[in-house]
Amino acid sequence: MFGAVAKTYYAAMLGKRPEQIVVVSVMPCTAKKFECQRPEMDASGSRDVDIVLTTRELGKMIHAAGIDFDALPDEEMDAPLGLSSGAADIFANTGGVMEAAIRTAYEVVTGRELPLAGLHVAEVAGLEGVKEASLKFESVKPEWKFLEGVTLEVAVAHGLGNAHRVISAVKSGEKHYHFIEVMACPGGCIGGGGQPRYTNNEVRRARIEAIYREDEGKKLRKSHENPAILQLYGDFLTDGPLGHRSHELLHTTYAPREKA
Ligand code: SF4
Repeated sequence: MFGAVAKTYYAAMLGKRPEQIVVVSVMPCTAKKFECQRPEMDASGSRDVDIVLTTRELGKMIHAAGIDFDALPDEEMDAPLGLSSGAADIFANTGGVMEAAIRTAYEVVTGRELPLAGLHVAEVAGLEGVKEASLKFESVKPEWKFLEGVTLEVAVAHGLGNAHRVISAVKSGEKHYHFIEVMACPGGCIGGGGQPRYTNNEVRRARIEAIYREDEGKKLRKSHENPAILQLYGDFLTDGPLGHRSHELLHTTYAPREKA
């Protein structure tokens, strides 16, 4: 998604064509090295992400170059899209994407601000394999009237065995959810195959605690309040969230692949 935005929105700012930009993504994930080569990953009209480095590889490169981060002066992130919210930080752990989405969905649909205590959705957090939560929309903005009184049912699974359990329950009709978050790695991306070795539950919990500390330390904790995101929609994805342009650039449909 970021690659497609970089090669369209950012490219237009620089007066460049998509193929004149090289996007390097630093990821927790070895699977992304393959994914960026998939034919579906060309929403920009060019390959959206050219190179994927894992966090472990980046760490090795930093060590090899002798860079001491503690000794470097702090700097602002580059614009555009350098500003991130706490909601982005928590994406890295199981339940984090769901929690970030709930923070935004609640405020967009009801028009009311979530109290600080409501920002952390404890039901979808933690290392339990499958987590569920319900969210009832008691009163909503007029344009969301069809959601009034609806109870949103969500599920979160991490690890493919747990994902299989959830999918089987949905297919059999035993469960019905409005939104399911699946992360393939145990614990989510904080336990990804490209992360520093070696990962066990103690390490996963420490990483989860670290990203929640990061989230809690930020003033900006909801995606829909991020000025950089608002500017992106204002200047470029002008038909808004769920509009045609954002759908084309930010969403993907995967075609089945032949089994090796
Ligand atoms: S959960 Fe694992 S496979 Fe999925 S994006 Fe994160 S690191 Fe990659």
